[in-house]
Amino acid sequence: MSISTVSVLSDLLNAIPQLRPQLYFKASLTALSHAMEDRVLADNTDHPLLIASFQRERYYRQEAHRYKRIAQKTDQVYVLSALETDFTNASGFYETIAFDLEDPLSQEWHLVIIGQQYATCVVCRERFMNPSKTKSSLPSTFDVDSSRQFEGIWTSDRTVSFKAAELLLARILNYRPELSSKIEQARDNFGLSPYNKRKSSKITKPKPAPVGVSTIDLDPFVERLVTYLQAGQYKLLKAYGSIAEQERKERLVNSITSAIRRGSNTGQPLHPQEILSIAVEELGLALLVCRCLIYRAGATETTATITHEFLKPEVKSIAGQTLQLQQHPLFQLIIQQKESIAIDDTQADDRTTNSVALQELVERFALRSWLIVPVLYQSRLLGVIELHHCGESPHPWQENEISLVEELATQIGAALIQAEAYANLEDLNQQLEALDRTRSNLIAITGHELRTPLSTIQVCLESLATEPDMPWELREVMLSTALSDSERMRKLVQDFLTLSSLESGQVQWHAESLSLEECVELALSRTRSRVAMAQPKITTQVLENLPLVRADGDWLVEVISKLLDNASKFTPPQGEITISAVCRDRQTIEVTVTDTGRGIENGRLELVFDRFYQEEASLRRTVGGTGLGLAICRQIVTGWGGKIWAESEGKDRGSKFHFTIPIAITKQVEPRSKKVTKK
Ligand code: ADP
Repeated sequence: MSISTVSVLSDLLNAIPQLRPQLYFKASLTALSHAMEDRVLADNTDHPLLIASFQRERYYRQEAHRYKRIAQKTDQVYVLSALETDFTNASGFYETIAFDLEDPLSQEWHLVIIGQQYATCVVCRERFMNPSKTKSSLPSTFDVDSSRQFEGIWTSDRTVSFKAAELLLARILNYRPELSSKIEQARDNFGLSPYNKRKSSKITKPKPAPVGVSTIDLDPFVERLVTYLQAGQYKLLKAYGSIAEQERKERLVNSITSAIRRGSNTGQPLHPQEILSIAVEELGLALLVCRCLIYRAGATETTATITHEFLKPEVKSIAGQTLQLQQHPLFQLIIQQKESIAIDDTQADDRTTNSVALQELVERFALRSWLIVPVLYQSRLLGVIELHHCGESPHPWQENEISLVEELATQIGAALIQAEAYANLEDLNQQLEALDRTRSNLIAITGHELRTPLSTIQVCLESLATEPDMPWELREVMLSTALSDSERMRKLVQDFLTLSSLESGQVQWHAESLSLEECVELALSRTRSRVAMAQPKITTQVLENLPLVRADGDWLVEVISKLLDNASKFTPPQGEITISAVCRDRQTIEVTVTDTGRGIENGRLELVFDRFYQEEASLRRTVGGTGLGLAICRQIVTGWGGKIWAESEGKDRGSKFHFTIPIAITKQVEPRSKKVTKK
């Protein structure tokens, strides 16, 4: 026994090339087969030959009881099915033929009835659809069986039915050679001839129906009924298709929304980046596009970087590339209209063919069909979703695809805002915690710093009060110590309040365009008036033609004064101090205060900016100071976006304090600087 590799339908179409196969839904074939079988059951005079081939045992089992009844009408009944569990070759009520699962018969559905008065047949082969496509295009509630489709022949043409019978009998004989005499008898009864492959193109002329019995033509009513059934089935499939589309859309939106809601393991909402990663992947997979992009872009931004990408295999990645938004006519259109843009064919759409910039993008990204959907939140543009088809032929965008992406864009917009709000809240919390820590630190340190001079004042005053006999010189020392310490306390409290208001952001900055030269002059005059003792020479190297700077004048003078005060304090009178300023780049000026004083050890260059950092303990200090000056300077400089840092070659090798300050943007005739007044 050899298994045929060719389907019965192919053999039939080869033998009768003029036959045109048609498409049948499973429901139509079931109805047709039942109608054909019913005819046999209803007729008591004809004893036809009936051959039924079921693909699978389970399909046969559903009909087994009918076949028992049919077998009472005729002894020429042959039932074929694939060998699965207990379906075997047997001669019972009728002949059963178990064919191999590998046999093409297992993909076919046949019913052939050859009677004396009529002949009819269904010879069909199942059409297998792409399983992922079938699954995704059908709602989960839909019985997949109903969507099965077959192609083949249904006819009451005697010639065709005879040919089909011959072909099937040959297959039966192959599996059950012992039936040859029974089959021979059938051939004799109905005028069939054995199927011969080599002569397959020769069509057997069927034995004419007996005299007086007309062959029955296809009943026009049955034909209409089948057409009606087919149309109904088609409509049903279409309806199911649109329900499926809706269901798919909901499932996708839900899966993304729930992924976003589920968030991270910590129970906190996802980070915006994670939201976009999930969305781009799900969307790309669901719509089977070549490329799906999501990137953040606000209406006022000039560039956007492609951060999230889904790619079909073998499609070029464009992740990480930067888009110039102002030269992107479609992006500008999105900002204006806040609506999606669907371009079915970039080679035929005026919007792309008329723009050089877009043509460049089309080529760079190999774009054939292009869908751009804005991600909005309350009309604010947060980003963009793009879908690309890159193939040879265009992919016209379907309404349902566009609405799906738009719906998702709405969800993404809301999720992004939610995630951002949460992140801001987190930030704020962290800031509050930091502030709280700072406050506790400050209270502890300030308490200590204030207690030291206060104790000195107390001791001095107590001694003065309790020792009336104290010598005059000692009284003077006591009094001047108490006075200088109370002055130190006043300064400490003042610096402390300044630093607190700077750190808590309560300071109102009044930025203006200023001449650095004038600010330096003002700071110098302050320093000179403050430091009474002999002090080192201060040289200014600030060029007159330096551009104006942009800062709050009072605070700028404060920084320069503090740096000059420090340099004066820590440099012996014979030393030198220089204040210089140069343009660092087109946006920044760098100011440097250099001294030849006691210098700073390498490991302490950062520490000096800490609150209350002083090299020697307050009691051993020979020069005044609160230890808050540089901390205040750092707050002021970072307030205008600058940097401040110290440099020193080491102990006794002088120090350099640098800070940067932004250059004012001068449009045309900028009025010369406003006069800076003393605070
Ligand atoms: P202070 O009121 O003590 O000057 P600052 O915050 O201004 O407080 O400075 C902190 C410390 O940094 C100083 O006590 C000193 O040890 C060191 N320092 C600041 N400026 C100089 C400098 N020009 N040369 C050497 N050391 C300096």
